[in-house]
Amino acid sequence: MDANAAVLYEVNKPLVIEDVEVLEPGPHEVRVRWAANGVCHSDLHVMTGDYPHPLPVVLGHEAAGVVEKIGAGVESVKPGDHVCSSYIPSCGKCWYCIGGQPTMCALRDKPRWFMLDGTSRFRKNGQPLHHFLQVSGYATHSVLLEESVIPIRKDAPLDLACLVSCGVLAGAGPVFNRAKVPPGASVAVFGCGGVGLNTIQAARMVGAGKIIAVDVNPQKLTWAEEFGATHVVDASKEDPVARVQAIGGIGGVDFAFEVVGTQKTIEQALASTHRGGMCVIVGVSPAGTRLSIDPGMLLQQRVLTGSSFGAGHQRTDVPLLIDLFMAGKYQLKELVSRRLPLKELNHAFDLMKQGEVKRSVIVYE
Ligand SMILES: [Zn+2]
Ligand SMILES: [Zn+2]
Repeated sequence: MDANAAVLYEVNKPLVIEDVEVLEPGPHEVRVRWAANGVCHSDLHVMTGDYPHPLPVVLGHEAAGVVEKIGAGVESVKPGDHVCSSYIPSCGKCWYCIGGQPTMCALRDKPRWFMLDGTSRFRKNGQPLHHFLQVSGYATHSVLLEESVIPIRKDAPLDLACLVSCGVLAGAGPVFNRAKVPPGASVAVFGCGGVGLNTIQAARMVGAGKIIAVDVNPQKLTWAEEFGATHVVDASKEDPVARVQAIGGIGGVDFAFEVVGTQKTIEQALASTHRGGMCVIVGVSPAGTRLSIDPGMLLQQRVLTGSSFGAGHQRTDVPLLIDLFMAGKYQLKELVSRRLPLKELNHAFDLMKQGEVKRSVIVYE
């Protein structure tokens, strides 16, 4: 069958929106008709070459849709089921999955631009196109591993549920699962875009006392306040480390979350914690990024760690966050600045680069 898809043929060139062929799902694979896909910075990293990837590729990894067809042996979903994409698959069988760290699943060791048999299910003029993180949500239809789809409730709007497939879980999960922020704790969040706003929102949800938002964009700091920040720091106007340390009150904050992915902001976030505090890296750094850290910072019992796709259990965390939204306890609607058709995807990335949107969502007919 044919799908309408956005294909990246060359870095720093616009995506080409065109019809491509989608092959039938193989054993343990499913074909999904996407309803929506959020526009995430990780796609942009591939488009700019910051994150080298085989080309041509169908990008997109924050998707929700309806299962259309299943291959032989698929047991966990059936046609008609609503699903979120899981850009990190979980097999349920490997050492990591059994040991309670399914976001570290052994399937991550396989090339993520092909199905598990090492081939693609996309063709253009007979030539294969690469998948992206085995999701490729910038297409009306794509084929995924059974391990890459997470069933969700059918009454949840898919054009909001898609956000949980990356930005929401990536941002909120570190608060719940990695830092396990207790009520009353002080928290700083460096980077208040589509992911960081979820870190702020999750900190509010668990009852953090001080929630300090740090960004260089005044608009993003205004959004941060709407999602629960108690203090805002404009890092373009003052030294964010000194300011966060002062607000924290005992030499820094209990927890700092870094949601940008640069050497400077990671080092600033770590320095903003007090002795014994924790810094969690959430932002994805361009390939080649390195840190320069005084070991004394860690000797003072600070913890520097990271979080991948929420650092929890994606198969239960995604439906849990959707339940919270449906119960009126988590803001998803407020995260969406723009809804756009696939043909305007290049424009959506321009808006992201200009810092003018929280999240844009590509919606399919
Ligand atoms: Zn993403
Ligand atoms: Zn696994």
